Amino acid sequence: MAVLKIAKLGNPVLRKIALPVAPEEIRSRPLQQFIDDMLETMRAAEGIGLAAPQVSRSEQIIVMECRGEEGFPERVLINPTIVYYGPHQVEMWEGCLSVDGLRGKVLRPSMIRVQGLDRKGSPVDFEATGLLAVCIQHEVDHLIGKVFLDRMTDLSTLTQLDEFDHYWRQEHATVI
Ligand code: ZN
Repeated sequence: MAVLKIAKLGNPVLRKIALPVAPEEIRSRPLQQFIDDMLETMRAAEGIGLAAPQVSRSEQIIVMECRGEEGFPERVLINPTIVYYGPHQVEMWEGCLSVDGLRGKVLRPSMIRVQGLDRKGSPVDFEATGLLAVCIQHEVDHLIGKVFLDRMTDLSTLTQLDEFDHYWRQEHATVI
């Protein structure tokens, strides 16, 4: 496995629309290796999610390891589509491995339904709430060339990391 270089804000790859993965490629050794490299890169950077464009590969693959009801399961989603957004919103602090040193509050639907493929190429269809729902929306945004800054409706909460630690640490930050 290898830790891959993370593309930072300003790299055009973060603004591209990612291409879907051909289902017959999913089980191939190179793609499985790439997924393992994404997981290792996310863990090395202490993130809870990573999208393939963040490692300069413009394809619809996301990996996550974020707290849910069942602990911290490893999740891989390929060609994901959010097919339903719940009516309620949740506001969370977000950060991004491609945006160094900043946190900001983002309001997003608190419940979503997602369809896609897992790392074996099998269809998945599930509902997510809370942190997982936010994490998936943040990562799916990366697949359409968006970062959390684009989703902030109030830029006055944009905070540098050392000030965040000083003033806002008691609130939960989601570093995705
Ligand atoms: Zn991100």
